[in-house]
Amino acid sequence: MQKYSNRLKTENKSVGFVPTMGYLHEGHLSLVRRSLKENDKTIVSVFINPTQFGPKEDLARYPRDLKRDERMLRKIGADTVFYPTAKEMYPKPYRTYVNVDCLTDALCGRSRPGHFRGVTTVVAKLLNIVKPDVAYFGQKDAQQAIAIKKMANDLNMNVGIKILPIVREPDGLAMSSRNSALSPKERSYATVLHKTLLLAKQMVGKGERSSAKVINKMRALIRQEDASRIDYISIVNPETLKPIKTIHGEALIALAVYIGRTRLIDNLKLKVR
Ligand code: AMP
Repeated sequence: MQKYSNRLKTENKSVGFVPTMGYLHEGHLSLVRRSLKENDKTIVSVFINPTQFGPKEDLARYPRDLKRDERMLRKIGADTVFYPTAKEMYPKPYRTYVNVDCLTDALCGRSRPGHFRGVTTVVAKLLNIVKPDVAYFGQKDAQQAIAIKKMANDLNMNVGIKILPIVREPDGLAMSSRNSALSPKERSYATVLHKTLLLAKQMVGKGERSSAKVINKMRALIRQEDASRIDYISIVNPETLKPIKTIHGEALIALAVYIGRTRLIDNLKLKVR
């Protein structure tokens, strides 16, 4: 991969990069399509990164089908898939990690300690290997996007980071590889994440400014679904990720909810004048 990316550099080709954990869907493909439009070459990585999974998390259950991913990518004209093995990425004994302070403590960081250290480490490594001009990420993983932007800036990485909007199913559920683990019943319950965000948007639209009140109503709506368990619901400053009590200016409403055994996340950015 490094030889190939060096060659692209000498050929003066612009390179776009889309890191993924595979089991691709339209959300991933939206990033790939944008990269294809904006660059001479697009490289997609498929790597289920073990260091971002906690010991009790779903690494073994994470869906995988590289052949299917390759077919989907070929169909839209992306011709390079980089799929290293965990052994290659983390030669033993592995000792070096990248950690973005503060931004990774709250939200998903609270219930998934070590998760973002794994994410920023693998993304830093992939960027070093692929050496893209631009790397594309989804707003679906809002906290990840912010941490990666900060890492690239703080470590003077010579790469543009672009964050693209969330792609949703027709009923509003944010696309995710993890959706494939939902039973048909759970799949219908899962729409509650987006519905809850819309409820929050509606409340704020009608003038509600208290985060606590908005969050209480969101909690109540989710609790109506038997199969659900709230991990967190937070309203935060979209740059610092610090909780905000009174909604004004820009706000990020983010939540993580277990539907059965599957943990789903979603978020919405609001602007209040
Ligand atoms: P993953 O394979 O889940 O690690 O995701 C790889 C990239 O695709 C990340 O930058 C995600 O934020 C992005 N992504 C995942 N789901 C969506 C979605 N529904 N809409 C837009 N981007 C997404």
